[in-house]
Amino acid sequence: MPRVGRGRDPLSLRSPLAGTPGIGPARARALAAAGLTNVLDLLLELPLRHEDRARFASVADLVPGGPPLTLSGTVVEARLVRTRRPGFSITEATFEDESGQAGLVFYNQPWMARWLTPGLRVFVHGRAVMKRRLTLEAPHVEAEPEENEADAALSVGRVVPIYRSLPGLPPRVRRRLVARALEEATPGLPERLSAEVVRQLGLPPLAPSLREAHFPGSAGGPPDPGPWAERSSPHLKRLALEELLEFQVALLRRRRERATRPAPRIEADAALRAALAGILPFPLTGAQKQAIREIGADLRSGHPMARLLQGDVGSGKTIVAVLTAVLAAGRGFQSALMAPTTILAEQHAETVFRLLSGSGVKPALLTARVTGRPRAALLAALEEGEIGLLVGTHALLEKPVAFRRLGLVVVDEQHRFGVSQRAALPARAVASGLHPHVLVLSATPIPRSLALALHGDLDVSTLGEKPPGRTPIVTRVAGEGEREQAYRALARDLESGGRAFVVVPLVEDSETIDARAVASWTEEVARRLPGRRVGAIHGKMRAEAREKAMRQFAAGELDVLVATTVVEVGIDVPEASFLLVENAERFGLAQLHQLRGRIGRGTRASTCLLLPGDGASAGALARLGVLARTEDGFEIADEDLRMRGPGEALGTRQSGLPEFRIADPLADRELLAKARELALQLAETAGTPPFEEALLLRSARR
Ligand code: ADP
Ligand code: MG
Repeated sequence: MPRVGRGRDPLSLRSPLAGTPGIGPARARALAAAGLTNVLDLLLELPLRHEDRARFASVADLVPGGPPLTLSGTVVEARLVRTRRPGFSITEATFEDESGQAGLVFYNQPWMARWLTPGLRVFVHGRAVMKRRLTLEAPHVEAEPEENEADAALSVGRVVPIYRSLPGLPPRVRRRLVARALEEATPGLPERLSAEVVRQLGLPPLAPSLREAHFPGSAGGPPDPGPWAERSSPHLKRLALEELLEFQVALLRRRRERATRPAPRIEADAALRAALAGILPFPLTGAQKQAIREIGADLRSGHPMARLLQGDVGSGKTIVAVLTAVLAAGRGFQSALMAPTTILAEQHAETVFRLLSGSGVKPALLTARVTGRPRAALLAALEEGEIGLLVGTHALLEKPVAFRRLGLVVVDEQHRFGVSQRAALPARAVASGLHPHVLVLSATPIPRSLALALHGDLDVSTLGEKPPGRTPIVTRVAGEGEREQAYRALARDLESGGRAFVVVPLVEDSETIDARAVASWTEEVARRLPGRRVGAIHGKMRAEAREKAMRQFAAGELDVLVATTVVEVGIDVPEASFLLVENAERFGLAQLHQLRGRIGRGTRASTCLLLPGDGASAGALARLGVLARTEDGFEIADEDLRMRGPGEALGTRQSGLPEFRIADPLADRELLAKARELALQLAETAGTPPFEEALLLRSARR
């Protein structure tokens, strides 16, 4: 019920947070800095977790290494401990309840020593470890509310939400705000699915789901944090589905819009087909032929193609792209082929120049390294329409270059996968009212079903088969104490004319630490390989320095390249025949597979040795065994997803998946499929789908 007689209007979903009771300018700024400006933002940021403060555990229940527990008790004392490391602090405290005492320890939270005054009543939540005594390590601590405090019942005696902590916004204030927003604003949350559909889904309605997300047990669900921690709550599923539905509807809409735009109509006649066949240095694989058929149909349609060509490393995506460009050139349209780095662009250019010699299609390479007169001449030739296929980096479209008749844009994403953004880029390159066709190449081995759902606005072609005649790579997981042997094997390979990558894990994500770690690894490797020229690359190096080292390695001026995973998106070095991965258990399987794609590209027999670190678990070793067993990227990705869970197997940010507030597209794969199905269904039945206005989806609102 809206509260009346308090001199203010009830909150609605779009009410600004600034000025609501308890939120003065300072708190409003803290909220805004965290991306929360209105009531809906606040309600859609779900708790990180919940604490059951209806039934407390006690000190006597603590077990070292046991599950995290919530206790209620009193601070006995707290003090700041001196450490020698500058900028690093430890606070130690003693906590007690009726059953006994336990230690609390906090790292780098010096204010805790001041705040935890003797006698303070607190809730603590954490995991116990055995130090000098039983201790909760870095626990969450919150002061108990006073009994007469307004809304004390939101923070004790029930399952309580724990939110991301924001400076200047105490947890109890936030809970009060959320509770009020839920009460006043959720009646305005539209239920966009028909009762019939909701029933078929077997999921609860939307508004109670949102209430449950914050205060489990408040709207018909169980007062239990468990289902939320496990992502099994039907209320959570309902919220996630809603968000995924908005996403799928947006993809569908984009796809429909595209289908109304005009694009060059490109069709191959017999002569063109013969010309295409003429440039092929080898027969195409069945998968390549199928992909070309699919692309051919798109190009004939008169509307812009937006197709993802996905295939494992080495599956032969480049030739498919080049053939498509030749097809476009045959009808007088220019193409652009873009790679993520200069060095990859150069490499593509080499392939392209080779394939196109004698084809009548003129290729060119444009990177930041092409300057002065040659650059001016190239740009002029491009505008004249003389150049049929321009190879460059993604900067080609960021700083648009003038084409005379651009008909096709090929984006080589390598393994990154920010596909949706990329597909939007060429809109700028529209010439003479015709939208160019877009082909995105991706080596991210994700299951086809997932690719379809995540890139619902793209069509997908998959190269599920590799060209014949590739030298297989022998992959082995080294056993304990086989390090010496591993480096001896590497040395032997170098002696026989090979080159090697040694991949090392990163310690921390900091520039100086990375550089130091890589430097010390490099010293270690050089010590083990006397007389060999050892170079190094890592992600925090300046791009030019990195490319220089790669070039030296490619040219044979270095025998060994010590590298972090930056070599994933690497260059072709046919002589590279040995890959040694230190602390291999710290990498994802898909990542290791990608790394392995750097070798076995020439005629030399190639070896991949995975060296687990000392503490690697049996499970981790079993995981690495998958790589020794198969070279199929899709199978590996599936295993990785299965064994490690989606969050870890493909980090959202890194993989370029859209950032959802609630859904986890990998964990919630079934919901994603369901959302896709529902979106199609909704689009068929209603004129405008009810999800046009996005409430949950972030990208669509900002
Ligand atoms: P990726 O999909 O990783 O980009 P590439 O296009 O670089 O793969 O192809 C990998 C290698 O396989 C290249 O050396 C290429 O010339 C070769 N290749 C591609 N298609 C075929 C084929 N049908 N038969 C034989 N070799 C092929
Ligand atoms: Mg490639």
